[in-house]
Order: sequence, then C-alpha cells, then structure tokens
Amino acid sequence: MDDVRKERVRAFRARRARFRRLVREAVASLPPELLARIENVDIVVEQRPTAADRKLAGVPPGQLLLGLYHGIPLPQRGTQGYNLVPPDKISIYQEPIEAICRTDDEIREQVRITVLHELAHYFGIDDDRLEELGLG
Ligand SMILES: [Zn+2]
Repeated sequence: MDDVRKERVRAFRARRARFRRLVREAVASLPPELLARIENVDIVVEQRPTAADRKLAGVPPGQLLLGLYHGIPLPQRGTQGYNLVPPDKISIYQEPIEAICRTDDEIREQVRITVLHELAHYFGIDDDRLEELGLG
C-alpha cells in the first residue's frame, strides 16, 4: 500500500474506533433498569444501512436512517421457545449519524436518542407514538 492509502485506512479506523467508543458511552449512560431488561439485545455499529434495511424501515429516498431494530418486539412473542432464536439486534449507523453531528457530545446524544428509539420498538412502541414522545 502506498502512504496515502495507508493514511486513509488509518483515519478510517480511528474514526470507527472513536464512534464505537461514543456508542459505548451513550449506552452506558442509559438508565440501569433499562439496561437490565435488554440483556438479549445486541447493539452493533454498522457503517451505513443497506437498501434492504432502508426498505424495512420504510425510509423514503433522501431521508437518513440512523438506526434499526431487528427482531420480534416483546409484546408479539409467545411465552415459550423464544430463547432458542438469536438475540435481537439494534444497528446504529455511523455515517448518517456523523453526517448530522459535529462534536463528540452531539454524536453521543444522537446515539442515545437513536438507541432509545430502537429499544422502544423492542418494547412494542411504534413510530407514531415515538413521534408524540419527542423520540421520532
Ligand atoms: Zn422507528
């Protein structure tokens, strides 16, 4: 690899490491009672949503998708057998969040709101209700 490319890779990795740290900090700042209830939910950082993710979320073209909850919301589950399936997942998308935030504090706050929004879907709360709660 030439030096320019090496430098780009280094900058990319540093940015990703910083973003992951901010996500960890944002998650750690959530209320402990909430964290205790979401042990089976993985919170993962991804670069950006795929076209399929955007479709699943119903995001119109030109609108950013910051995060996505993948799984079966708690109220829709039967009482048996659900522990046999893989854990639910909340994706947090780095590029769109960085696109609307300038500082670490802004990223942390936006990630916190996004994680809360997606966790609400896990608890069965829909987007209309979240809009009313100011977490749209
Ligand atoms: Zn939503």
